Amino acid sequence: MEKLTNRSKVVSDKKMSFKERLYLPAVFKGMGITLKHFFQKKATINYPEEKREFSDIYRGRHVLKRDDEGRERCTACGLCALACPAEAITMIAAERKPDEKHLYREEKYAADYKINMLRCIFCGLCEEACPKEAIFLTQEIVKADYHREPLVYDKSLLVESVDNRIDVSKRQTPEVLAFKKDKTKRHNR
Ligand code: SF4
Ligand code: SF4
Repeated sequence: MEKLTNRSKVVSDKKMSFKERLYLPAVFKGMGITLKHFFQKKATINYPEEKREFSDIYRGRHVLKRDDEGRERCTACGLCALACPAEAITMIAAERKPDEKHLYREEKYAADYKINMLRCIFCGLCEEACPKEAIFLTQEIVKADYHREPLVYDKSLLVESVDNRIDVSKRQTPEVLAFKKDKTKRHNR
């Protein structure tokens, strides 16, 4: 069969020489590599005591955003779920009642919205698919757990709190930010 790369090596089954059977040259060679790395800058850090600075557009756990008036932006259109290659998103849509206008921005909203963080590959396609700027990935990492259930995040974990908003402006281009200021656009009303 034709080789795809030149990296493969032919393994020989020849008998080992006396020097090879001593293993000492191989041991010293290995120790030499260890010593070389000992004096180099470490690639690892002592997490969680030390933390790396994340990029402004790091793709961590999701947030479901509220608008300026504190209403949930998500309209349960399902586009994020459709775009998700890992099928990590599920939701149940509901119709907004007249006395719920202060809670939900659109006539339809997500009564239930879940993301399975064990399935998610943090690709960001849900963020790109959303027409309502309702879902964004954040710089926060998903905490590990011993069980599966707590890693299926529901609205209580995903929707941002009214008093503690998450700034996602750095994830958006200047053009998008300028567009959002234009109140003549229905998108911004
Ligand atoms: S980040 Fe990617 S994998 Fe995760 S929920 Fe969004 S679309 Fe799905
Ligand atoms: S988060 Fe966005 S794309 Fe997903 S259902 Fe809500 S409005 Fe639609």
